[in-house]
Amino acid sequence: MAFDSLSDKLQNVFKKLRSKGVLTEDDVKEAMKEVKRALLEADVNFKVVKSFVKSVSDRAVGEEVLKGLNPGHMVIKIVKEEMDKLMGSEMTEIKLRPSNEITIIMMCGLQGAGKTTTAAKLAYQFKNKGKKPLLVACDVYRPAAIKQLQVNGEKVGVPVFAMGDNNKPLDIAKAAIQHAAKNNINLVFLDTAGRLHVDEDMMNELAEIKENLDIAYTILTVDSMTGQDAVNVATTFNDKIGIDGVILTKLDGDTRGGAALSIKAVTGKPILYSGMGEKLTDLEPFYPDRMASRILGMGDVESLIEKAQSAIDEEKAKEMEQKFRKASFDFNDFLDQMAQLEQMGGMQEILSMMPGMASQMKNVEIDENAAKTPKAIVLSMTPRERSLQDPISPSRKKRIADGAGVQIADVNRFLKQFEQSKKMMKQMSGMMGGKRKRGGFK
Ligand code: GDP
Repeated sequence: MAFDSLSDKLQNVFKKLRSKGVLTEDDVKEAMKEVKRALLEADVNFKVVKSFVKSVSDRAVGEEVLKGLNPGHMVIKIVKEEMDKLMGSEMTEIKLRPSNEITIIMMCGLQGAGKTTTAAKLAYQFKNKGKKPLLVACDVYRPAAIKQLQVNGEKVGVPVFAMGDNNKPLDIAKAAIQHAAKNNINLVFLDTAGRLHVDEDMMNELAEIKENLDIAYTILTVDSMTGQDAVNVATTFNDKIGIDGVILTKLDGDTRGGAALSIKAVTGKPILYSGMGEKLTDLEPFYPDRMASRILGMGDVESLIEKAQSAIDEEKAKEMEQKFRKASFDFNDFLDQMAQLEQMGGMQEILSMMPGMASQMKNVEIDENAAKTPKAIVLSMTPRERSLQDPISPSRKKRIADGAGVQIADVNRFLKQFEQSKKMMKQMSGMMGGKRKRGGFK
């Protein structure tokens, strides 16, 4: 997972700090030396590391901290606050123009950074917020890029405007805006051409579009796996054409973290979103404080709650509670629960957001496939079996096992577990009901 190594090292420094009742200036200096080394190894920009360590040290060696009640904790708190600040403190939201106007967003970046994918992800997020987006294929150098945008657009249900590869990007963009005006579209994403490296032609082309059109946001996509290069690319784009924000992709991989921690500090431009996977739903707003919590191994409870809220349908949750209470939970309900868990990103992702869990879980490979066996077993049942109307006889067990590609013993084990969890749910909901009756539980 991203930031693993950095997280580990910082947590070791913190452990030492916490274990000391009294802290001297030298203890803080020693700890800061280790923090500095960890950040440099994570490929954080050298100047950023220097000024970060200085800010933390200046605040940490003061009397108030060292003579305070819990100096170790105070120092950790300061590290957290300074790290939030480094990444911009507040989440930066893209503000669109009023619905009756067209907001034009120009997406730029090097080839392979994830620009086309990210354009579709963003369009999808705004479509879900009630906007009417259009994706525009301005990459005329790679016919495959046009096709890719069309495929992605189709997947997220957003129209794609393309004119093949015989027109200038600026002309395509102009035509797309006219098309948008006629078709009640209020958000236009220009998917511009990337190159393997920063080059003059690419910059001139982007500058030309920017000069001639009323671009509301110029968003740069960079690949977090490229570390310092990502920061250099952001600096060059910002100097040459001016950017409004960055989307950092591939944070789901095992990137060391340098780009996430350096971009805002070096370029002055915020990270707007992070790409968390190849699926078109894998894009998350970038919250500096939550990211700092994750990096420091403090978990990210807020994001976990948000994920749960968006994956769990409230009506369904109420219905489920009733079922637990009456112990009428059947195999269909089980399938629903599995689907919600999957929507939340699977067990590994969920655990990585829990405080203290990320480091403990790092070497544990959660077998997401293990959860697929019970699902396959349920899917091999008939509708009547799933709703508990038909008892599952031995011959039915054999049929189910064959259908799911497992042994009869696996089916037996699953059925036993299912009965046990039903019993437990009944007891638990009994306890909750009891509390509620006494009026103490809401
Ligand atoms: P472009 O050349 O900048 O338009 O890049 P693409 O959109 O074609 O993306 C390049 C590759 O990166 C594709 O295989 C994408 O699926 C992949 N990709 C993009 N964003 C992410 C991300 O956030 N996580 C992961 N794991 N892969 C991504």
